[in-house]
Amino acid sequence: MKVDFKSLQIGTMESEESYLSIKGRDSLLADAGGRFLSTLNIHLLAENTGNMLVLRVEIATTLALTCGRCLEEFEFPISAKLRVSAAESAEYEDSGEMILIEDGQAEIMPRIEEEIFSLIPLNPLCSEECRGLCPFCGANQNLTSCSCENNDIDPRWQKLKQLNTK
Ligand SMILES: [Zn+2]
Ligand SMILES: [Zn+2]
Repeated sequence: MKVDFKSLQIGTMESEESYLSIKGRDSLLADAGGRFLSTLNIHLLAENTGNMLVLRVEIATTLALTCGRCLEEFEFPISAKLRVSAAESAEYEDSGEMILIEDGQAEIMPRIEEEIFSLIPLNPLCSEECRGLCPFCGANQNLTSCSCENNDIDPRWQKLKQLNTK
């Protein structure tokens, strides 16, 4: 998604505020087992500092992630602030810090998506206390207490135990 900065002429000291509400790209989250539950809200404050734009970006959305223990989906709200500078080719430095303004427009989504991606935990949990699935019957132990015996035995040992009693 490109943001249009044509109204902010480079070289003039102006600022411009905009609010965007867009649909997040689910393919961004597919590898992490997630999806966007709500729209991605972006508050953008662009300040013209003379030869470049400083963009203060606030993002807020809610994701659905899959718990690594009980495999249930849970809501994961995200809000973050980031700062990006943007410049036209004459002032542009390819340091990875800056984005390029072409024809008065700059592509800010890769930065925003990078930020969202960095906020997703490696092992998402619906709650720190999530009790996960029963290793014997697969029941979600947050919802039910199954009647499996030997719940305290590691399933790897369970196999050995069966061998010994044969
Ligand atoms: Zn869970
Ligand atoms: Zn069970």
